[in-house]
Amino acid sequence: MDRALSGELRRVVAAARGWLEELHEEGLESLPEAAPSPRAVAAKPAALPPPAASVREPQRALPDAGRDAPPAWGDAPTLEAVREALGECTRCGLSATRNRIVFGDGKADADLMFVGEGPGAEEDRRGLPFVGRAGELLTSMIEKGMGISRSEVYICNIVKCRPPENRTPHPEEAATCRPFLDGQIAAVRPRVIVALGRPAASLLLGRDVSISKVRGIWHEYRGIPLMPTYHPAYVLRQYTPEVRRAVWSDLKAALARTREG
Ligand code: URA
Repeated sequence: MDRALSGELRRVVAAARGWLEELHEEGLESLPEAAPSPRAVAAKPAALPPPAASVREPQRALPDAGRDAPPAWGDAPTLEAVREALGECTRCGLSATRNRIVFGDGKADADLMFVGEGPGAEEDRRGLPFVGRAGELLTSMIEKGMGISRSEVYICNIVKCRPPENRTPHPEEAATCRPFLDGQIAAVRPRVIVALGRPAASLLLGRDVSISKVRGIWHEYRGIPLMPTYHPAYVLRQYTPEVRRAVWSDLKAALARTREG
């Protein structure tokens, strides 16, 4: 094989490996089966795929931004005003499959705010964030680790409705819900935000990040110190001393920063 081609192949394999390692870090355990290549499809006799329109999910109308646009929050809205503006939201497709809106939980003027990804099954059932297995771990990290009551902090998610099968929220879902997260941040005015996991860190940092690269490092969101760390669901899956030590160090740093003068 010529050297240029083998160099190119090595680069492709290295890039694919890096990408798979990142997906693994986010908890992906297997990849969906690849769609057959156009050549494989062409080689199959009979059974042509049905026309695209009939196999695609029905397209939902895009939200009417004018009608449903959230208000500009001003400097200090109340959480109640933000919740009221959210209403019985149908601005994105997640509303079709949710049971309950999971707005947020905790102290209205907390010093420390946690932002996760989106409600899971238990959260969707109870209408409260982080009350499933990952939530139990988060609660114990807050209460046993940081030594403060869960009710002293404020906890919410990027999206307020459960993504089907707990998938990562799509960018347009996160974008649609974002004004309400911004409203919550403007209302609570925390001294420190902790972003739990890659989706929350990426949204708040405004770029797609690898959580293992940004965690443990101070960033800012709209002038508020932001500490990204691993999502508790990831900690449950990768329950290693290194991962636990990393989260603990990030949370200790976050708590200390809330107490700085
Ligand atoms: N995972 C999240 O990101 N949020 C929850 O509320 C629960 C699990």
